[in-house]
Amino acid sequence: MSEKTLPAVTLTGEPFERGQIHGETFSAEVRENVERYLSLFAHYGTDRDEVLEEAIKYLEVIDEHNEAYGDEIRGIAEGSDLPVPQIALLNARYEVVYSAYRDEAEDETVSGETAGEGARYTDGCTSFGVRPDVTADGRAYIGENWDWNVGVADQVVVTRVRGTDGLNHVAITEAGIVGGKMGVNEAGIGLAVNGLVTPTDGKTPYRKPFHVRCREVLSTDRFANAIGAVIDTDRTCSGNFVLGHREGEILNLETAPETVNYRYPEAGILTHANHFEGDAAESTLERIIPHSLVRGPRLRRLLATERGAIDVDIIKRTLRDHFDKPSSICHHADPKTAPIEREQTNVSVIADLEERTLHATAGPPCEHTYETYHCPT
Ligand SMILES: [Zn+2]
Repeated sequence: MSEKTLPAVTLTGEPFERGQIHGETFSAEVRENVERYLSLFAHYGTDRDEVLEEAIKYLEVIDEHNEAYGDEIRGIAEGSDLPVPQIALLNARYEVVYSAYRDEAEDETVSGETAGEGARYTDGCTSFGVRPDVTADGRAYIGENWDWNVGVADQVVVTRVRGTDGLNHVAITEAGIVGGKMGVNEAGIGLAVNGLVTPTDGKTPYRKPFHVRCREVLSTDRFANAIGAVIDTDRTCSGNFVLGHREGEILNLETAPETVNYRYPEAGILTHANHFEGDAAESTLERIIPHSLVRGPRLRRLLATERGAIDVDIIKRTLRDHFDKPSSICHHADPKTAPIEREQTNVSVIADLEERTLHATAGPPCEHTYETYHCPT
């Protein structure tokens, strides 16, 4: 087992100040992350200047929807001594990638190219939620294996946020990105996410970005507001959100740009991978990663066999599952794939919504031990 753990920082004060601390603490990682995405975009044929211009436009959108988020981006730029557009680019990375395809794809019918291009930039993942009635200790847990580009693994960080606005929370993010993708706040509201793709992704730009919604989920003390942060306005691209509350409510929102499927735990257990299960949108990511169709149901079955006895150790064991390796729940890089395109489980995370803690690894959970990170009080 690797001894490697995720680096953590506590961010305090006003948004700009928090960003500065983030940028100063992880300046090397932020720089590396910017270069990594610019390389990835270039590898897939997206123009560097175009995505940076697009990032500036998205910063205006962010300022409009959530001024504090925009300030925190500027703070990271200041702290890491990098230009603001580079940091905005990271924070709107799901949205900006579509800029290059929008114009050329206008005359095309949906499915083919457009769906494929977007999918290249979309994270994998297998997520879950378990209600208190199926766990050994009567607590609710959510979490996931976050499968994404191997080159991003060293830029994954933990932020413990104790700000002047919004609730304290602990989250897992990428260096330079304000909104954590997985986390839990002091009210016991938790978040996990999965990549989803539809043919309409990217068709309507300049809507509130994905990562801003993640931050808003973790900033509120009310479950209804967390749901609202995801669905209150239409989106530029698709994404799956697993929301959990320490009192046991778990809700899955499969979001396409203009439509949402709502899904709930069945017999206390919810799992999700990278395809739409409801019919509110045409689902395309599974064409690129067919293993999505197996990972979600398999994780459900592995958890269901332990119904009533589920605890953190059992969840860890299920997240280490290797059926059909390397494209397994515990995801490993495929040696047949080009190095720059390889993906693996960069983080495995279990959120204890009662304790407000995250148990998380710094790589595939079969090779890395779980470290515990607490929400600041
Ligand atoms: Zn493994």
